[in-house]
Amino acid sequence: MAGRRIEIRGTVQGVGFRPWVYRVARSAGLVGRVRNAPAGVTIEAFGADAVLDRFIEQLQADPPPSARLVDLRSVPIPAEDLDDFVIESSDAVGDKALSIPPDLATCTDCEVEVLDPDDRRYGYAFTNCTTCGPRFTIATGIPYDRAATTMSAFDMCIACRREYDDVEDRRFHAQPNACPECGPSLSLVGLGGDPVAVADPLEATVALLKYGSVVAIKGLGGFHLACDANNSEAVRLLRTRKHRDEKPFAVMVAGLDAARRIAELTPEEEALLTAPERPVVLVRAREKTGVAVEVSPETSLLGLFFPYTPLHHLLMAALDGPLVMTSANVSDEPICRDNEEAKRRLEGIADAILLHDRDIAMRCDDSVVRVIAGTPTIMRRSRGFVPRPFYLARPVSRPVLACGAHLKNTFCIASGDTAYFGPHIGDLETVAALEFFEEAIDRMQTILAIRPEVVAHDLHPGYLSTRYARARTDAVSVGVQHHHAHVVSLMAEHGIHGPVLGVAYDGTGYGEDGTSWGGEFLLCFPGRFDRLATFRPVCLPGGDLAMREVWRITYALLHDAFDGQPPIETLPLFDDIAPESIRVVSQMIERELNSPQARGVGRYFDGFGALALERPVSTYEGQIAIAWDHIASDTVRDAYPFALDRSRSPMEVDLRPAVRAAFEDVVAGVTPADVSGRFHNMLVTVTVEVVEALRAEVGSLPVALTGGVFQNARLVAGIGEKLSSKISLLRHSEVPPGDGGIALGQALIASAFLGDKG
Ligand code: ZN
Ligand code: ZN
Ligand code: FE
Repeated sequence: MAGRRIEIRGTVQGVGFRPWVYRVARSAGLVGRVRNAPAGVTIEAFGADAVLDRFIEQLQADPPPSARLVDLRSVPIPAEDLDDFVIESSDAVGDKALSIPPDLATCTDCEVEVLDPDDRRYGYAFTNCTTCGPRFTIATGIPYDRAATTMSAFDMCIACRREYDDVEDRRFHAQPNACPECGPSLSLVGLGGDPVAVADPLEATVALLKYGSVVAIKGLGGFHLACDANNSEAVRLLRTRKHRDEKPFAVMVAGLDAARRIAELTPEEEALLTAPERPVVLVRAREKTGVAVEVSPETSLLGLFFPYTPLHHLLMAALDGPLVMTSANVSDEPICRDNEEAKRRLEGIADAILLHDRDIAMRCDDSVVRVIAGTPTIMRRSRGFVPRPFYLARPVSRPVLACGAHLKNTFCIASGDTAYFGPHIGDLETVAALEFFEEAIDRMQTILAIRPEVVAHDLHPGYLSTRYARARTDAVSVGVQHHHAHVVSLMAEHGIHGPVLGVAYDGTGYGEDGTSWGGEFLLCFPGRFDRLATFRPVCLPGGDLAMREVWRITYALLHDAFDGQPPIETLPLFDDIAPESIRVVSQMIERELNSPQARGVGRYFDGFGALALERPVSTYEGQIAIAWDHIASDTVRDAYPFALDRSRSPMEVDLRPAVRAAFEDVVAGVTPADVSGRFHNMLVTVTVEVVEALRAEVGSLPVALTGGVFQNARLVAGIGEKLSSKISLLRHSEVPPGDGGIALGQALIASAFLGDKG
């Protein structure tokens, strides 16, 4: 007889882990106990040595699908003489800071029940169990049990209570457990918010969707706007009403067969689609599959995802075709959450709303993932991932809140050796977004039981997040440079303390000199950085207007490359631009009026892309870059020339030779595909050459690729191929490469700045 104490860390609470341990231990004939612990689960097991060894192997080899083991430590303890193996209740532990898991997609067992006419949960949209269902989005406090969720409004019926109390039942301690007798129910409201009397709201919704209507559907972390993805007219209607011109919509499909019919999928992509997090996966669409072109008008990238609630399963089973499912909001405001809010805000957008009476405690948008050069990369980390922790290789000495970036905002809270990203907030440009930001921070602080003593924020003085940070009187605020934060986020993801050679390419980020950076080569430590190289700045005549009217950037590039004499007469791009506008822009550049200098590589994508695609206007951030990436020719091997000005400090990449060469190509009628291919090849060469030049100075450090530009698969793959295989190349996977990923880096930098060993 021997004993072991086994401490497991990871996502092991609220996912059916303890009942599973109980069953495994019992079937092995072990006695002992399992209980939740602050960072995971603790098991004390007693039995023969060999049996204990096998038990530990089994714990690691075959955990429940939603559980994630980060580490397992086992130490021998004196044997105890017990009769049984038991699950100790969390109350007995007396620890409040137990973790809440992310929302979990409906498991196969529950899916089968919902579609089985003989089951008592047949057709029931709120079916869940110990291994699946809502978690984070219904949590109102800690510890995570029913009383601290929005399910507290419903009393379990006798049958549900019996399941909940029975340790052998698969609904043992499933906090949101419910059935048609006792749980939440659906209802349909029409235009104006009045209830529609229908026998079956779900059936009525399906009929409306088939008819071509736009229906708002309440989900897990917010409302979606849905319409038939095969119906061009319906998709166009949704675009008009949502004020969204060209940005692709996400599409829900019933399962793998349906997905394979409309997209070319790699095995990695299929694995992501079926993963318990159920993110939207960006994949390559097939042509002529019946999906309306209006879903994704100008790129073959399609955002696909699978049903993740019983409601979705029921809808998809009844519809038998793909469904547009896009966040219910106007433009870029936060996703709708409350029933009353949805009725108010979605008036004139949705023809009807499918509601239910289980409140959403925390908004949580769908997550987005893409396989980039073979690596699954989270582009937007929200529903299904939040609040799963990151374990820090070195703890922070004081609790930190990091406020994140201005666009695609997410914040991060770190304490000890764990860090938690909050949900996707979106662009912090509206009052509604700021309210969501503040409310989400409050709630995360509550459910994590963390009181930040340090608040990290971006260096930009005008950002709402900066003002929020500085207004917090209960904590010290620390400003963090944007690109430094990008690199340190990536270092943290890989558990590296530095130094690394960071390559941060994005659209914009406030530099230490008050100008806009975004083509940065930084020698990075957690607490500081040296800027070793950057790009020659691009002039943005009209400031933010140039991001939309991208022809202004092209003009400025030509103006710079041709010494003030841009040869625009021969370029079709400028045909439809009023001569007066061109004159004004020219004067702005020459007199340096409202023409900030920006070094973002993203701006070069805009300027070159507009030139070759003959597209003067971009309707959403990154639009030109995405279209431009997708048309690039795979067969073009050569690259545009560039210069490297080593006399400057930091060293400067000069793309004027490339501008001149691309201009010659466009005038000569070279296809946009070839121009794009040469442009991408050039950026690969630039990156590799500068990295190699800098490594000669700073030594053989790992190279970290980060920033929104590295969502571009062609660029990442090209650099990976060209860079010596001896160089360790760090890339994003769990932390988004774009601005949604910088909060983690901000937290660690602020912490290091205040004296933690960096
Ligand atoms: Zn289930
Ligand atoms: Zn019930
Ligand atoms: Fe950025």
